Amino acid sequence: MTGVRKSFGDHVVLRAVDLVVGAGQCVVLIGASGSGKSTLLRCANLLETVDDGVITFQGDDITDPRVDVDEVRARMGLVFQSYNLFPHLSVLGNLTLALRKVHRVEASEADERAAAMLDRVGLSEKAHARPDDLSGGQQQRVAIARALVTRPALMLLDEVTSALDPELVGEVLDLLSDLKAEGVTMLLNTHEMEFARDVADRVSFLHDGVVHESGTPDQVLGDPQQERTRAFLSRLRA
Ligand code: ADP
Ligand code: MG
Repeated sequence: MTGVRKSFGDHVVLRAVDLVVGAGQCVVLIGASGSGKSTLLRCANLLETVDDGVITFQGDDITDPRVDVDEVRARMGLVFQSYNLFPHLSVLGNLTLALRKVHRVEASEADERAAAMLDRVGLSEKAHARPDDLSGGQQQRVAIARALVTRPALMLLDEVTSALDPELVGEVLDLLSDLKAEGVTMLLNTHEMEFARDVADRVSFLHDGVVHESGTPDQVLGDPQQERTRAFLSRLRA
């Protein structure tokens, strides 16, 4: 992202955001509630149209108005705080739907890929269950699996543990750590600073519509240089 600007009416949320996520990297966005973290992820996924600036994805300028939005989105996986699983479909059905409808994968291959993905997230035995029969942590792992099964070049994860009971947060963060180790490229926002410290390649602090401070977790979380970053982190730890 270069100079990305996004307003809602006269409320400027993103003023000039510069951000780079390298292949295989995990970049963690931090920032106060309302600082624009979700808006940034939604801009990356073209759910919002930016007012100015450029977003380049795998070499393509995806802010070009002529871009095929569906084609770009098909190369990304997006997971929200609320899992948004299809309640009337089985877990397996949730995973195969996009594969078949968007990616035009044949039913038998879609089933195979979905089964392999469920195995990878440790939920093989739940393939035929309905989402409602799973715990929140399991549902979120299904939502992540559903995004991953299409083999996206980038995973966007918006506070994926925020809606979970505390005892269920760990299993989802562990899955994200595994994905990072497997080389999955991720841009995510979270308040889980221990996770950010352990897994992120970079931590970027969003404040006042810009990336106010960015660096390794040790730099930004351990030795922040900006007063605003220090204030944010101390409020978080209070
Ligand atoms: P964060 O995820 O960091 O909490 P958001 O990106 O959700 O922040 O929101 C940033 C600001 O943009 C907030 O003030 C929010 O009210 C506003 N905002 C987000 N989406 C919309 C929208 N669709 N219309 C109007 N204002 C919005
Ligand atoms: Mg948000």
